[in-house]
Amino acid sequence: MRTPFVVGNWKLHKTISEALALVTELKNQLGAVKGVAVGVAPPSTALHAVAKRLEGSSIAVASQNHHWEISGAWTGEVSAPLVADAGATWAIVGHSERRQFFGDTNEGVGKKAKAALAAGLGAIVCVGETLAERDASRTLEIVDAQLAGALAGITDASRLVIAYEPVWAIGTGRTATPGQAQEVHAHLRKQLTARFGADVANTIRIQYGGSVKPSNAEALIAEPDIDGALVGGASLEVADFVAIVKAARGNA
Ligand code: PEP
Repeated sequence: MRTPFVVGNWKLHKTISEALALVTELKNQLGAVKGVAVGVAPPSTALHAVAKRLEGSSIAVASQNHHWEISGAWTGEVSAPLVADAGATWAIVGHSERRQFFGDTNEGVGKKAKAALAAGLGAIVCVGETLAERDASRTLEIVDAQLAGALAGITDASRLVIAYEPVWAIGTGRTATPGQAQEVHAHLRKQLTARFGADVANTIRIQYGGSVKPSNAEALIAEPDIDGALVGGASLEVADFVAIVKAARGNA
């Protein structure tokens, strides 16, 4: 019912030439793969070149972050219309590294999500708890607050994707078990149902992110409410990312 969506978040990696080499290979190897949607989120310096190289392919391009304002005196920022102009069709918002190191708040993430949708982009909204919050049994309370902040005022969910990324699993090699992830995904779907109704909530993809690798992707995505993956480290290597995409085919 939901086509799984696998997105590679390259973070602060890849020059333009490295980025082009990677997506050229992805285009060659994933051209014929059906039953899964794929995207890459290059650093903003490579976004336009990557989008150009991917023209005519089904691999989408996402930005990693943007300001909620459209334009103005915001030195160093990019906006949703600017990343759309550069070729992005998706925008990641609320990644835990933005929340942790750059002060993104639940309210700010909501403004960025609305700016993305207003610019015609799809929004990939990241939520997830820290280890201390999980250990204190606060996981659901934390993701609820993040989701409520991100979705405040959003009534059209047709271009919305949620990414559940437990902070303790990002870049640590420590992955949530399929059961742990499914429990949170099912809860998020319940919250989406309360907000948008069951028919709409059942169409919203909820990706899992946090040390997804070829060896664990299939078991995670086989869970009923896990609809793909947001992949960091493993998206930087063609073979690993291709293996994850293939593992995701038709499993959601
Ligand atoms: C991420 O940053 O979104 C992520 C999931 O990273 P990693 O796969 O490296 O844990």
